[in-house]
Amino acid sequence: MARYIDNKCKLCRREGMKLFLKGQRCFTDKCALSRRDYPPGVHAQRRSKVTDYGLHLREKQKLKRIYGVLEKQFRLYFKEAERLKGNTGENLLSLLERRLDNVVLASGFSLSRNHARQLINHGHFCVNGRRVDIASYRVRPGDKVTIKQADKTKKQVADAVEVNKSQVVPDWLSVAGDAIQAEVVALPRREHVPHPIQEQLIIELCSK
Ligand code: SF4
Repeated sequence: MARYIDNKCKLCRREGMKLFLKGQRCFTDKCALSRRDYPPGVHAQRRSKVTDYGLHLREKQKLKRIYGVLEKQFRLYFKEAERLKGNTGENLLSLLERRLDNVVLASGFSLSRNHARQLINHGHFCVNGRRVDIASYRVRPGDKVTIKQADKTKKQVADAVEVNKSQVVPDWLSVAGDAIQAEVVALPRREHVPHPIQEQLIIELCSK
């Protein structure tokens, strides 16, 4: 699956908010947004008022960038969210939260979403005892996410757990940090999504 490989801090500057794409660096004064609190680009500071369409578009881009999905994959998530019963916006957020890379990050097993994705792509994580190397793998209630037995990366993940020890784990996950094990105990709901997203704007844009 294609992925964004350009400068990630530019994305935060474009959205005018911290998207926390670079792990611990985002919490230090090295954060690019705290140094240059304006959009990237030569003419960015001259840009005029944001239109209604612009507002809707920015909200969608923000969500895609937080979860690291590109347009095509996002559209598939949206279609599926529409098909499911219930509120489309909440379904969309729930589907994104259930991605394996998000579970690894939310459980504190990685330093950033990209780190989580790399660990998964390199085959270091298992779901229910079976190796899964697809970052977009969708977890279900009852699934157990663990690190591969006798894995060389265990130390790296244990260090990440130590760094993230003060991180609040959402209650749809039950995490045993010492054992590097997370269990999905429920489906994520709207209140579990920690990002300030106005999903209604995204629905209005994508339903047109
Ligand atoms: Fe965004 Fe983190 Fe870069 Fe700050 S350091 S601009 S929060 S990615």
